[in-house]
Amino acid sequence: MNPRLQTEPGTPASTTVPQTRRSNAPSTRTVLAVFLAALAFAPMVLPEFQVTLLNYIGLYALVALGLVLLTGVGGLTSFGQAAFVGLGAYTTAVLTTATELPGWIAWAAGSPWLALLVGLVLTAVVAILIGSITLRLSGHYLPLGTIAWGISLYFLFGTMDILGGHTGMTGIPPISLFGWELDKGGEIFYLIWAFLLAAVLTTRNLLDSREGRAIRALKGGMVMAEAMGVNTSRSRMVIFVIAALLACASGWLYAHMQRFVNPTPFGLHIGIEYLFMAVVGGAGHVWGALVGAGVITVMKQWLQDLLPQLLGASGNFEVIVFGIMMVLILQRARDGIWPLLAKLVPVRAVHKQISASAEPLARRPMPAKGELILEAKNVTRKFGGLVANNNMSLEVRAGEILALIGPNGAGKSTMFNQLSGVDTPSAGEVLFRGQPVAGKDSREIARMGMSRTFQHVKLLPTMSVLDNVAIGAHMRGSRSVLPSAWRLDRAEEARLLKEAARQIERVGLGEHMFAEAGSLALGQQRILEIARALAADPCLLLLDEPAAGLRYKEKEALGDLLRRLRAEGMAILIVEHDMDFVMNLVDRVVVMEFGEKIAEGLPDEVQKNPAVLEAYLGGVE
Ligand code: ADP
Ligand code: MG
Repeated sequence: MNPRLQTEPGTPASTTVPQTRRSNAPSTRTVLAVFLAALAFAPMVLPEFQVTLLNYIGLYALVALGLVLLTGVGGLTSFGQAAFVGLGAYTTAVLTTATELPGWIAWAAGSPWLALLVGLVLTAVVAILIGSITLRLSGHYLPLGTIAWGISLYFLFGTMDILGGHTGMTGIPPISLFGWELDKGGEIFYLIWAFLLAAVLTTRNLLDSREGRAIRALKGGMVMAEAMGVNTSRSRMVIFVIAALLACASGWLYAHMQRFVNPTPFGLHIGIEYLFMAVVGGAGHVWGALVGAGVITVMKQWLQDLLPQLLGASGNFEVIVFGIMMVLILQRARDGIWPLLAKLVPVRAVHKQISASAEPLARRPMPAKGELILEAKNVTRKFGGLVANNNMSLEVRAGEILALIGPNGAGKSTMFNQLSGVDTPSAGEVLFRGQPVAGKDSREIARMGMSRTFQHVKLLPTMSVLDNVAIGAHMRGSRSVLPSAWRLDRAEEARLLKEAARQIERVGLGEHMFAEAGSLALGQQRILEIARALAADPCLLLLDEPAAGLRYKEKEALGDLLRRLRAEGMAILIVEHDMDFVMNLVDRVVVMEFGEKIAEGLPDEVQKNPAVLEAYLGGVE
């Protein structure tokens, strides 16, 4: 099914109008076509030296692209990518030059293409091994970990006899393609750039998919991603392996371009340079990899000539300039050069189309009204000496709204975290639809039909409202990496987007569908979180202060929405400070103070309860 299909009448206007920024501006396709044409002619018109430079740019960009995915999009910093480049280069060097190979691998001898295959498999295995150890590290420890294995692999290349030690290996044959031997710079040029373009396009496809949203959600915080059903460890591993495979492919091309390898280009300092490229180019954008590789490579060439002349001494002075540049970029243009360049070449902005004909997603059967959905029994949570929840019990039924109220610091958000699996109770039991869930991952609980919003809004500010809400529908799709990269996921993607659009309309954010989520007012961002929670098709909704920051009309609309959901049989647990809002809406109220339940009952009863008046509403009446 084609997601760009023109929508039919019947869907709301805001989703059908393709909003164009400048109608006479060229489309992305035109810009890309001009770029491709220039590339195709480059080796015929440029001097050999510049063709070589372009080859290097292509090779570096391939590695930097992996870092865009890993660091820029996924937020995982790696200094070790050069080692994976080395793995690709040495694998092909050994397999294509060896005179005698052990029997089990002899089939791959002599053919660069088979060596590429072996290199990719080997790299994937090594990346999974390294990843399963280092990706668990958090904060600064992860980059430090990548330095450690980066250095280890580098020394391995230099010390293994079979790899020629520090002198390296010579006699690597050129790659041949359908009988055409790519033994000149102007020939392998086409292969390098074909690899790069294919990698850029597949990476872009991947990012624009269910899997890609899960990857981008990593930066919005693990808690949010897991609560939407994303397996964050898996997503981290996926981008780590992809980045490693891109580096390996670059190493393979490099080895056959140079026709010899030694350990130098695979050391830590080059690993740092790759990271420079990604950051300078624009670590969040696929084309940033190319820009970064281009800028750094050309500058390096130029500085290597210029600086020793200026300073009257030889040395790698360009590293100092790069260091200063990195600091400046991080201070002045966090997103790198690509976004600045993109502004110079205005292209027509084409929004995603919501396909009206996409099949609605399957829904979970809703429990019967009145059925017990959530039951917390004597939940206690201690943080050191502080008892944030003490012996808390509550229950929520289908078709009922329960309010959890209490002064600031009473322990309401902590209770939410115990219920939704973000945190584990120190003691007590939580039953969701009859099953014990305390101690389960929030991802598993989300799958069972519990969905939540956060007191401190957790969304991806630079992604559209549509994409943010579609993260909520993650669990309702199944297409993953390869189908996404090759665009075989479009039918499912259309269904997911249609569902996201439906929820956005439902909560009244239709006119903001394609706006960046970060551009919404805070109150609207809260509403977005509700749409995202609804996109998961829950039977229990946990809302942590949804009305905070809303204007009067918006609160009314929110109240209406929650009443409609209740009428459909949804169970809703809500934490809210606005008493007018709560008392007019909910069926029952649980009041907390100092981590304990001090009252429970109908809104009218609770409002008259002396303990509550004393503790919470003190002075109001
Ligand atoms: P509420 O949502 O009712 O305002 P919280 O549940 O956020 O209250 O907090 C209850 C108490 O628990 C507060 O004293 C808070 O400082 C403490 N608390 C919450 N989370 C943690 C934590 N992760 N570590 C230590 N103390 C915490
Ligand atoms: Mg709170």
